Amino acid sequence: MTSSTLITAIAAPSTQPAVIIPPLDLTLTYSHLHDLITKFQHSLAAIGISPNDAVSISLPNTLEFIVIFLAVGAQRAIAAPLNPNYKQEEFEFYIDDLKSKLVIIPRRGDVGMDSPAARAARRFGAGVAEVWWDGQEVKIEAKEEDVALVLHTSGTTGRPKAVPLTHKNLTTTMYNIQATYELAPEDRTMLVMPLFHVHGLLAGFLAPLRSGGTVVVPPRFSASEFWKDFIKYKANWYTAVPTIHQILLKNTLPSPVPRIRFIRSCSSPLSPATFEALEKALNAPVLEAYAMTEAAHQMTSNPLPTNGPRYPGSVGKGMGVSVRILDDKGNELPHDTQGEICIRGPNVTSGYINNPAANVSSFYPNGYFRTGDMGTIDAAGYVRITGRIKEMINRGGEKIAPVELDNVLASHPAVAEAVCFALESELYGQEVGAAVVLKEGKKVSEGELKGWLGERVVKFKVPKRVWFTEVMPKTATGKVQRRMVAEEMVKSNQ
Ligand code: ATP
Ligand code: MG
Repeated sequence: MTSSTLITAIAAPSTQPAVIIPPLDLTLTYSHLHDLITKFQHSLAAIGISPNDAVSISLPNTLEFIVIFLAVGAQRAIAAPLNPNYKQEEFEFYIDDLKSKLVIIPRRGDVGMDSPAARAARRFGAGVAEVWWDGQEVKIEAKEEDVALVLHTSGTTGRPKAVPLTHKNLTTTMYNIQATYELAPEDRTMLVMPLFHVHGLLAGFLAPLRSGGTVVVPPRFSASEFWKDFIKYKANWYTAVPTIHQILLKNTLPSPVPRIRFIRSCSSPLSPATFEALEKALNAPVLEAYAMTEAAHQMTSNPLPTNGPRYPGSVGKGMGVSVRILDDKGNELPHDTQGEICIRGPNVTSGYINNPAANVSSFYPNGYFRTGDMGTIDAAGYVRITGRIKEMINRGGEKIAPVELDNVLASHPAVAEAVCFALESELYGQEVGAAVVLKEGKKVSEGELKGWLGERVVKFKVPKRVWFTEVMPKTATGKVQRRMVAEEMVKSNQ
């Protein structure tokens, strides 16, 4: 592990392709990329962006995003990517929380300057810019302890928390991901996850660039374009959330299926049923990983087939990250005993911004960070996530982990997707509810599904009510927010 900053961590200038943008059929070599970063850095300096200034980047997955993000790092400023589809109030929350000095938006002429992002920026005194590459000679080198990026957590369990990540945090993960999957210059990845969250940014973009490989960047995920681009640009792996794998499985697969070195799944639980279906349909190893914003993305992963076994339902082993299962006092628990998953490593943030309470409750004195996820670790080091502490269903004192029930339901032949959640109950405080999406053309009754569960789990875990729905409600990043699913199902009340 030698590289210390974002710019020194990515592969050196060369004629090797670094980035391919399908709609433009544009290929950028590592030499081009480095040139553009330097030019952009000079533009940033010229408009007054200094080290430690926060720069919000509100752009879709484009060449501009890629270059600006890296140029902000080169300028020792702090990149803060924001979802370009936010409404004005959402932009205001993030811009105020980050004290952004500049907000970068897509070039849309006058419309851009009156967009929700631009209006929010002006309300909080931040500049708005559509930046392009031209400028004067300025050179500032970043240090590895500089904060390079601020991202908010997804807000699945509460208000999003602002996580600062240093060059050291990011380059550690870049190295860990490169090492886990043995990424090499010959590898080509399809980047279909948004760049404004750690998954797309670290696993889909920065780690491949560290290895000198090529990243294919379509503007958005589209099931119909995915395989065309994958084949045309000779991609050989991709990383995505389970929702995307499920959408690909539902749509027509290419014939013959291209050679895929591995498929990475991360950010939400991958049911064993989807794992098996994906391996079979695409004839490639599926490697589930476990990640979070606070860890600059990856913490654990299943290994490549040449390096060890992979297990459906397990997120694999700590990869450059120390993982322990601790009780609520911080004592280590024996193998195969459920407790809180805690992690330590040079990739982990040193603490949230403006959130002293969360900082006190999230770190143990020995430096272990509390993930808020429950799980077990076995003698070989494989981790299984059993659920989020905040999502446990408490039925009259009996604690129920909803993800276990999701998986049992998803193993039913008629079920495409299932999400269980807490329902208010006068008698028990909480009871289990379930939302189910059926496979196309399949039918099953609520009673049959309850029977299926009743044969496989103890009686008190069987949902009181099962709702059938056409689509599962998800957050912008394809995550299941159980509270949101519960609200929508209860509201739909069919
Ligand atoms: P918030 O912290 O604001 O509630 P969040 O935890 O969803 O939101 P992220 O940092 O985007 O924000 O996500 C990290 C979480 O995602 C992990 O703590 C874990 O609960 C979940 N996660 C990540 N990978 C997996 C996986 N492979 N299987 C199950 N859960 C996963
Ligand atoms: Mg979290």
